[in-house]
Amino acid sequence: MKLTVRARLGASILIISLVLMGAAMVTVLHSYRAIGLRDAWARVEDMARDAEDDAGYDSRGRLVLDDDVVMYAEGITVVYLDENGDLLRGAYPLSFPDDVALAIGEDRRINGGASHWLVYDVAANDGFYVRALMSTYELDSGFYQMALISGGVVVLFAVLMAISAWAMARRAFRPVSELTRHADSIRGGGQLGARLPVPDTHDEIARLAETFNAMFARLDESFRAERQFTSDASHELRTPVGAILAQCELGLLGDDAERLQALEAIYQRAQHMSTLVNRLLMLARAEQGRQTLAIEPLDVRQLCGFACESLEDSAQEAGVKLELLPGGDAPTINGDSALVVSLITNLIGNAIKYRDPSKPERYVRVSVTGQDGEARVSVADNGIGIPEEHLGRVFDRFYRVDSARGGEGVGLGLCLSAWIARAHGGGINVDSRAGEGSTFTATLRNARAEQSRS
Ligand code: ADP
Repeated sequence: MKLTVRARLGASILIISLVLMGAAMVTVLHSYRAIGLRDAWARVEDMARDAEDDAGYDSRGRLVLDDDVVMYAEGITVVYLDENGDLLRGAYPLSFPDDVALAIGEDRRINGGASHWLVYDVAANDGFYVRALMSTYELDSGFYQMALISGGVVVLFAVLMAISAWAMARRAFRPVSELTRHADSIRGGGQLGARLPVPDTHDEIARLAETFNAMFARLDESFRAERQFTSDASHELRTPVGAILAQCELGLLGDDAERLQALEAIYQRAQHMSTLVNRLLMLARAEQGRQTLAIEPLDVRQLCGFACESLEDSAQEAGVKLELLPGGDAPTINGDSALVVSLITNLIGNAIKYRDPSKPERYVRVSVTGQDGEARVSVADNGIGIPEEHLGRVFDRFYRVDSARGGEGVGLGLCLSAWIARAHGGGINVDSRAGEGSTFTATLRNARAEQSRS
């Protein structure tokens, strides 16, 4: 059976208070009965002793009672007996068994059918015996009445407590029900942008609402990023695919020279798509934490040399002077050489790509500083620079300052480079001014083989 927290709380309070108050009631009733019995015994004993003084044998051997003798008072009956326990004077109440043997000075409880009897016997010096007896009927019925009343009070009290606990829990859980209702409406409507109202109470409920809101915000952000990524990726792929199809048509219809031209254009587009797909794949792996690093000791200056060499031709073609500035130290880090080379190549490639054709002397200067365990690679150019308002976004996926410039760009290079730097315990900074040039500085440290999500 599924019960709400309120019902469970109410039921628990009901059971606990019934048990506790029941136990307290039993203890109180027990002592009440013990006190009542003790008092009754005392009265029975007193009555027996008093009656002993009020009787004596006369000269003819007959038992004579004083005029002021009391044979019955306050429910206590007195009888005089001989040594065999037979009645000399007085009479037993009807339900009292008349064959009860003498037992001097003993407090006894005798079962007399309908009720119990408290019996006390006293031996007089003259050779007769006095017995005082009292029915416990009144004592018992008073006791049962009191037990009944207290039982009723206990049950009533427990029920009242359970009801108030239920009502208090209901009040306390009202904000939770509200949160559930709001959360349900957000889930049902798929409006992850909506937020739960945070009560102004600074308590657990407020914290719960804040935690939910933070969770919704993260979900919203990741869904949005996912949608953006899918739309950007399909958009980026659609353009080269469209161009390839157009070139194919041209090639099929044209002469040999046109066919060759079309093939060249198709080759370029296909290369662009290949870069895009490779980078997308790598980014997806990096984001899922599946990109593992092949860690080995790296001489970062040497890797910069390799990257410069590989880009020397394209730098020359672009009329850019590419130099690796000399430096005293050759920092070593533990990292993935292929990834670090790809980061450096990407920064240098961008510096060449975004050169300023209006400047007669164009340069790209690569410098390496640092010590073992940490290396800083700076790539400075006097290219077109990046306007300040775009600086914060150049590391975003598919972000390009001006997609018309540098047509081969896919907008993923810096995003990937930043991930590689992060995977090597560092990051990338950019300092740039539009029209003057840019300096990208990557910090790299010793990497660990397993990578967290970027
Ligand atoms: P892309 O493939 O478009 O080059 P990147 O992620 O490498 O993508 O770069 C993102 C954007 O940052 C580029 O489109 C370009 O506008 C800008 N950018 C990157 N490097 C430079 C640079 N050295 N000089 C000027 N702009 C740059």
